[in-house]
Amino acid sequence: MNWSWKLGRLAGIDIYMHWTFLLLLGYVGLSDLQENHSLLAAAQGIGLVLAVFVCIVLHELGHALTARHYGIPTREITLLPIGGIARLERMPDDPRQELWVALAGPAVNVVIAAVLIAILLGLGVVLQMPEAVLKAPFLLSLLIINIGLVIFNMLPAFPMDGGRVLRALLAHWLDYGRATDIAARVGQGMAVLFAVGGFFGMPMLWLIAVFVFLGAAAEARQVRSRLLMAGAAVRDAMNPQPLTIRPDATLLQVADHLMTGPQRDFPVVVDDRLIGMLHRAELMEALNHGRAGTYVGENIAGNGEAADAADMLVGVLERMGQRGMSSMPVTHAGRFVGLLTPESLGQYMKLRSG
Ligand SMILES: [Zn+2]
Repeated sequence: MNWSWKLGRLAGIDIYMHWTFLLLLGYVGLSDLQENHSLLAAAQGIGLVLAVFVCIVLHELGHALTARHYGIPTREITLLPIGGIARLERMPDDPRQELWVALAGPAVNVVIAAVLIAILLGLGVVLQMPEAVLKAPFLLSLLIINIGLVIFNMLPAFPMDGGRVLRALLAHWLDYGRATDIAARVGQGMAVLFAVGGFFGMPMLWLIAVFVFLGAAAEARQVRSRLLMAGAAVRDAMNPQPLTIRPDATLLQVADHLMTGPQRDFPVVVDDRLIGMLHRAELMEALNHGRAGTYVGENIAGNGEAADAADMLVGVLERMGQRGMSSMPVTHAGRFVGLLTPESLGQYMKLRSG
């Protein structure tokens, strides 16, 4: 995620903090300072935010480690003012696995709350207002926040964990796409309720409403495209007749007739054999350095990575994402057969959904 600082690595997973989290710290510190006119109060406020932040990291680790148990690695955990995001390499396909991965996060907060209750009882604090607030304000606040985190995360609305739980449960009886649609609808209905609640003196609810509404829509869209791609092979979504170039063409010749089209990357092909790829950026760079008269063959990297036409589309897209590739040449039985690009993929999705 952009604009994030790496804080460290836990259980092999990078932990990042988004810069907006600093705004939250500053806001809490300043408002405590203003309210109580004491630096101690401000420090306590910031300390509480940092403790909550640790609870959220543990929550996300709950998701990540459960996913790892099912063989799904986590790329990173990012902390935002509204909570954390564990970016899994992929979502579990089995609804039962999704159910456990989703439940594992809130379960961590339940455990933390239980530990805090035990500590408070051990300190002889009776959990009744207002004496408890005076005796152990920090631990009590942390307890209430953890209970709040469980309730908030278990709301049956995407992108909250409760939305995933709801979908996983629905997927027992319905197909995955239908289950997602229903869970997304429930989430958006919930967002409308939040927005209405915002008019009753809780403007924070507006922010949550927007976040939930967009999250639900994004999830529904993602699942729809994932279902459209499921079972498809690369050959279904590739452009079978992309422009190809020969290694003995000069860059000037190539530029002449290629600069105008929409294609960005050009397979270099001889007798149906893929030699390499020339990307538009490389072409421009070479032209800028006065290499217009040189041959294509001198300007391509030796990396001959390609997908097979029979490979699963989803797997190849994942590979492209990991390597930051914008297009993938496709071969079959040693012959060049096509090019997978965002445009050809979009075309395929439009055909399938239409
Ligand atoms: Zn969660």
